[in-house]
Amino acid sequence: MNPDKIDVLLLGGTFEARRLATALNEQFPGLTIVASYAGSVQDLPDLPVPMRIGGFGGIDGLTNYLETHNVRLVIDATHPFASQMSHHAAAAAHFTSRPLIRLERPEWQPQEGDDWQNAADMPAAADSLHSGSRVFLAAGRKEIERFVHRHDIFALTRMIEPPDIPLPDHWHLELARPSQSVQDEIQLMQRHYISTLVCKNSGGTRSFAKLEAARALKLPVIMVQRPKLPKSDVYGSVNLIVSQTEHRLRQVPR
Ligand code: NAP
Repeated sequence: MNPDKIDVLLLGGTFEARRLATALNEQFPGLTIVASYAGSVQDLPDLPVPMRIGGFGGIDGLTNYLETHNVRLVIDATHPFASQMSHHAAAAAHFTSRPLIRLERPEWQPQEGDDWQNAADMPAAADSLHSGSRVFLAAGRKEIERFVHRHDIFALTRMIEPPDIPLPDHWHLELARPSQSVQDEIQLMQRHYISTLVCKNSGGTRSFAKLEAARALKLPVIMVQRPKLPKSDVYGSVNLIVSQTEHRLRQVPR
């Protein structure tokens, strides 16, 4: 759905974006809020606001969208590893002089006793794996490409949609969202004799159970660091974004 006048364009793809869509809809019933999704997964959330699905067509496409639909405020609530979308949003907001705020959940931090080793990105994580290791590779369908040359490891991979490329025959693919049950994650890791967990520092609560499971099993974790995101006004919670929305919209006339 693409109304002529959009008060808030919410770039989604996270659990927090879903909560935000509901909170904004409740708080500002008179506003037109449109939630945007890349359409990379089939099961889209059920939201109380109109949705649009699919890419905008790069920075130019998004710039055009913001102008055509008279968007007053852009909220970037994409995943911290969806860096291309965040860069495009920052550039398009800049070119059209639209305010942009970003919801960024805090990074996970190790606790005493955790064995976390940071990797700058996915290729660095792939390079750091010891030959013969049995890895729980919590990476997405695009990221898995960076690991498939490692025929010398076993990988249990989990992703929502199947990858575009074949995985080594001896790997195990689970098509699922992350479990929120620590017990289930422990059992999964034990079933596959996992020796190392590789995951992104996504933050948030929805995919933390695997880290608690690794902690319980005393497994080392290779933690992939977040990509560099453009400078923008960042807030760490749904509530803060809701109060900023009111504040920002007051400064932008209809
Ligand atoms: P990305 O690399 O930053 O973006 C790739 C392209 O997908 C963008 O250039 C844009 O296409 C389109 N796109 C991304 N998010 C969009 C949105 N909310 N609305 C409309 N178009 C969008 O993103 P990604 O890493 O492929 O992730 C895709 C989506 O999945 C994101 O919305 C993200 O929030 C969500 N997600 C990502 C991860 C992850 O680890 N990367 C994890 C969970 C959820 P155009 O250039 O054509 O506009």
